[in-house]
Amino acid sequence: KTFEELELHPDLVKGILAMNFNKPSKIQEKALPLLLQDPPSNMIGQSQSGTGKTAAFVLNILSRLDLVEEKQRITPQALVLAPSRELARQIVGVIQVMGSFLDGLIVGTAVPTEAERPSRLECSVVVGTPGTVMDMIKRRIFPVSSLKILVLDEADNMLDQQGLGDQCIRVKLMLPRTLQVVLFSATFPEHVREYASKFAPEANQIIL
Ligand code: AMP
Repeated sequence: KTFEELELHPDLVKGILAMNFNKPSKIQEKALPLLLQDPPSNMIGQSQSGTGKTAAFVLNILSRLDLVEEKQRITPQALVLAPSRELARQIVGVIQVMGSFLDGLIVGTAVPTEAERPSRLECSVVVGTPGTVMDMIKRRIFPVSSLKILVLDEADNMLDQQGLGDQCIRVKLMLPRTLQVVLFSATFPEHVREYASKFAPEANQIIL
């Protein structure tokens, strides 16, 4: 299969070319048709690291954004949670390259701020670690009412660690009820699996 056959928006296909990808990897080929279905359904996807999971969830996000005219207030529609700030930065980089042909796309990184009156996040996609994101939501600088997609990258890492797992759950409880939840991971050990199914109920499962 080709990326065109996955019925991605032509501007996204240009972004994929900018990444120098020729054809979808196995996880992309299997996951994208399910991710892009309407109405959206949840997904739990497992595939080894380095197999292209990032592009799979990024293309789903970029396909689903309603990009608004300038001057309108931009509110986040997708949130990606990652276990480390370094990984969050890398994901932002992929979104920026893949989305470089989409007009009006703004990507934000959730970074801790000490400012007393920090400004409101105005971007379409937010990437961050669970603790920082939770803090920003509580301080009302991250408006969540327009969120429609939640992705957990390295979900095994996130849901396995006591602190991170709790934070992910607490973040999710603050988000709208109708949310497409996407979990991607290289492994889903037994004890994480049950947790994952609760976090992403009735998910399509792909295990490569
Ligand atoms: P990931 O598993 O998301 O960390 O991706 C691993 C590496 O594979 C990254 O360097 C990607 O840029 C690259 N990659 C992802 N999808 C493709 C593809 N369809 N064709 C070629 N390279 C890819």
